[in-house]
Amino acid sequence: MTDERVSPGKLVVVSGPSGAGKTTVMREVFRRCRRPLVASISATTREPRPGEIDGHDYYFLSPAEFQQKRAAGEFLECCEVFGRGHWYGTLRSEVTPSLEAGKWVVLEIDVEGTLAVLEQYPTALTVFVRPHSLDVLRQRLVDRGTETPAQIERRLEVARRELAYADRYQHQVTNDSLDQAVAELCAILEAAG
Ligand code: 5GP
Repeated sequence: MTDERVSPGKLVVVSGPSGAGKTTVMREVFRRCRRPLVASISATTREPRPGEIDGHDYYFLSPAEFQQKRAAGEFLECCEVFGRGHWYGTLRSEVTPSLEAGKWVVLEIDVEGTLAVLEQYPTALTVFVRPHSLDVLRQRLVDRGTETPAQIERRLEVARRELAYADRYQHQVTNDSLDQAVAELCAILEAAG
């Protein structure tokens, strides 16, 4: 297995409740940060949202395909993120070759996935992106318009649970303003060894 002792790259794990704006923040960080960042594309069994592209936003897999890869040990970590139905996972093939090539591999994964990654890569850099408040988060999810009210409530419940783990991360960034959050994250990455 690849290990940071022998690999010149670095793993960066970014978490935060769904709707906290981490995808938008990270898109800008990829543009502005001077580190050789590469995104790990996760696999998921959820349906693509409008505009999402297979192999770009996620690898959209059927439940059978996902479980086949899981059984074959292709995931660095994987879990059922919303309690029932949808699986998400980080493929080793997204991580190992890039680390070996000296890249900084960014995983946007949930809290449970982060804990599993840290067991294998204890020196990974971890950052938690917080929403300003749960009310702001609810509004963003409503504005996004891709979830039903029941799904939004479920995501908020998950968000509450995730926020309780925020202090396990080395860094926390509050997404009050996009520019400020991006600048803070870039500074964290550029200061990291
Ligand atoms: P969404 O469905 O909104 O794209 O993502 C929902 C949640 O799944 C987010 O909190 C995101 O961090 C998490 N997630 C995305 N990819 C992975 C992954 O590969 N592994 C784990 N553990 N969580 C993931």
